[in-house]
Amino acid sequence: MRGKKILLGISLVLASVLVFAGTSFCQTAHVMKKLSDHVYLYGVEKDFAPTNSFGANCGVIVGTDAVLVVDTLISAKDAEKFRAEILKLTDKPIKYVVNTHYHLDHAWGNEVFERNGAVVIGHENSRVAAPKSEYGLAHYNDFGLTSADMEGTVLKFPTVTFWNSMRVDLGGGVLVDLSYPGASHTDGSITALVTPDKALFLGDILFTKCHPYLGEGDIPSWIKVLANFERTKAAFIIPGHGPLSTIADIKDMEAYLKDFAFFAKTMLFMKGQQDAVSLAQQFLKKLPQQGRNELSGFVESSLREKYLPKGVLGVLEKK
Ligand SMILES: [Zn+2]
Repeated sequence: MRGKKILLGISLVLASVLVFAGTSFCQTAHVMKKLSDHVYLYGVEKDFAPTNSFGANCGVIVGTDAVLVVDTLISAKDAEKFRAEILKLTDKPIKYVVNTHYHLDHAWGNEVFERNGAVVIGHENSRVAAPKSEYGLAHYNDFGLTSADMEGTVLKFPTVTFWNSMRVDLGGGVLVDLSYPGASHTDGSITALVTPDKALFLGDILFTKCHPYLGEGDIPSWIKVLANFERTKAAFIIPGHGPLSTIADIKDMEAYLKDFAFFAKTMLFMKGQQDAVSLAQQFLKKLPQQGRNELSGFVESSLREKYLPKGVLGVLEKK
């Protein structure tokens, strides 16, 4: 039930996300960029529409024996395009898919890779979140997606899971260390650190230059997790959404979470129950960090999910 409400909450904001996407964003497709000897980033900086996987970043890590993919986008169609781009880079087998967490824009393309021989790896809490994804795919149009967008999309969940950490050896000294840093964006959000390239994939623990979705977040724990990454020696910091990032972006995200929690508690205390739409408008004026213009609809969904009492607008109950 909680999963259902979370998904409904996300879906409720999509109208505004879509309007924003339609008016403000140029349609920039995902592109592959080489970051270092073994690491590629497949991402966008401008198009955060649902039909473009909300601008989710993916990674490709190439060893001498195998390839590991970080996240698989929102649909079979997008995953097929992503896979075709990988096949242009290397003829090594894509043996592993890692899901940084279970959310649609990071995991609904899994089947394309699994069908072609990859094993899907994730945190144990991402595996047990499967029913939430099943509900979400059954209601894909709530997310602003059409049957054409989702054609051929079949859910596949991690079959290899871990609790704390795990290492994948891709050959030639290329290692991918997967870690669970504690609860943050979800209770199963993990990171991937590539050696020797010093590339750190943070998934949706970090949103840079866009608003984060906080609805399932453990805010106090998330802030601690981010604080620990302030000491990272990584040469490349890859957020779940947004451009290549720096330690300043990690600090900014901490400040955002603190501000958001403070504003939410204060405003709700001072003003009592309000509708999420007007609160979100006020929040957008109060949360100016680093030009977070993209994904502004998440402000409203985060408020609904995280802070507003159930049924403030009666909307969640109607569906
Ligand atoms: Zn997410």
